[in-house]
Amino acid sequence: MSAKKSKLKVISLGGLGEIGKNMTVIEYGNDIIIIDCGVAFPQDDMLGIDLVIPDFTYLVRNQDKIRGLFLTHGHEDHIGSIPYLLRELNVPIYGTRLTIGLMENKLKEHEIKADEHCVSQGETVKAGCFGVEFIRTTHSIADSVAFAIHTPVGVLVHSGDFKIDYTPIQGETLDLQRFAELGKKGVLLFMCESTNVEQKGYTMSERTVGGIFEEIFTESDSQRIIVATFSSNIHRIQQVINSAFKHGRKVSILGRSMNNAVKTAIELGYMTIPENILIDISELKSYSAEQITIITTGSQGEPMAALSRMASSDHRQVEITPSDKIIISASPIPGNEKLISKVINELMKKGADVLYDVLKEVHVSGHAKQEEIKLMHALVKPKFLMPVHGEYKHLKYHKTLAISMGIPKDNIFIMGIGDVLEINEQGAKVTGTVPAGQVLVDGLGVGDVGNIVLRDRRHLSQDGLMIVVMSMDRTSDEIVAGPDIISRGFVYVRESEDLLDEARRVVCEALEKCEQRNNTEWSYIKGTVKETLREFLWLKTKRSPMILPIIMEV
Ligand SMILES: [Zn+2]
Ligand SMILES: [Zn+2]
Repeated sequence: MSAKKSKLKVISLGGLGEIGKNMTVIEYGNDIIIIDCGVAFPQDDMLGIDLVIPDFTYLVRNQDKIRGLFLTHGHEDHIGSIPYLLRELNVPIYGTRLTIGLMENKLKEHEIKADEHCVSQGETVKAGCFGVEFIRTTHSIADSVAFAIHTPVGVLVHSGDFKIDYTPIQGETLDLQRFAELGKKGVLLFMCESTNVEQKGYTMSERTVGGIFEEIFTESDSQRIIVATFSSNIHRIQQVINSAFKHGRKVSILGRSMNNAVKTAIELGYMTIPENILIDISELKSYSAEQITIITTGSQGEPMAALSRMASSDHRQVEITPSDKIIISASPIPGNEKLISKVINELMKKGADVLYDVLKEVHVSGHAKQEEIKLMHALVKPKFLMPVHGEYKHLKYHKTLAISMGIPKDNIFIMGIGDVLEINEQGAKVTGTVPAGQVLVDGLGVGDVGNIVLRDRRHLSQDGLMIVVMSMDRTSDEIVAGPDIISRGFVYVRESEDLLDEARRVVCEALEKCEQRNNTEWSYIKGTVKETLREFLWLKTKRSPMILPIIMEV
């Protein structure tokens, strides 16, 4: 009976007001389902952090209710946090074949097994009181889906990441008819992605890039061709291979993540590779430049990826020469622009021809632009809208766009992560919050690096460290050795002996002051030394290194 009165709750644990770590929770009565479980990449000020994952507190507290995790597609910002979620709780995972295949690769690295289920596009999975219907979409990775979630209060549609590609490389186009049918019957809430909402027009078909590749291959007769792209964009990789095959070139694939993705895609039938075209990198020397195509990771300028290492002459097997033509078939994820520029500059300094998205149409986005988003709105015709997958400005702009299409502004919810949207046929409103935020992963540590550790890392990275060591006799309260000064990352010690000698004198004076005041509490001594030294260094250098006084008892 009480379940009848329940309201449907929609809670985002990531992906709102940020790009990355997408995760949405849908709850009704005693049932919870989760959509996606992604990672975000650390921001510049998160020094030493490898990954950022969602805060799972709410899910851990309610784990008895969780009926399943449903995946829209195999991108990192949608599946990357699964190994970390599975450490906290066990949950059945549903996804299409390629998505599950890519997730398995990830779980293998973490040595974790999951209760996984492959679902076909068009199928509906029963999960508690929910029916989760998988609807075919197109995106920059194969086998992506949107969800229609059939709930006791109505139908919710979650777009996943999508573009409307009428001529995809493999399979059929996005299931426009199904979206229209759902819209006709009535959709209560539409959660629609917002990544490219600021951009006018339509995103071009993936196939257009193939045409450009063909042009480039034709005019690059005597050159070696190197293409960098996203490792999971198997249709892009397929198109490079198609051109290489047509022009009688062999293909070598570099980078572990790309090799894994391609292997999985081939096994599952998402790529067709002409016989004997793939060669190992060690075989490159047996071929001349015009017989070779290299497909590599590093399109985002990632310092450890193969392309960056080639650019800095740090790659063991591939040396860039003036006879190379390099295609960067990607656009920078916001924040990566500088890294990519650096790589392009280095490659060009080595004399290579470099083509990238600004110069030639060697990349198309995987995300819908305004006109495609409008089409989806027109088909789905939701009562309520919640823009998802975007920074605040994207969500806000999506709202404006939706208002222009006739959705009343009070029916559009720009939510923050952790906000609880309660919804039924009558209405929807934000009624509270649950714990949400970012958990930082550094090496094997999950969540142990927080604001205080990061603040110290920033301080050390900007101003360096000065350690003052002295030994004290506990009975006589006398300094018996030191003070000695050790510094790192502050000044070049060999050229700053005068400064450090003076600093030592300043510390001695501070110690004398403590003695005169008859206060030999260690905390008082440490505080005085720190304060005096800080003032002195600031006066002399306008720098404020982290100062660590250490007193040893003898
Ligand atoms: Zn995606
Ligand atoms: Zn995404």
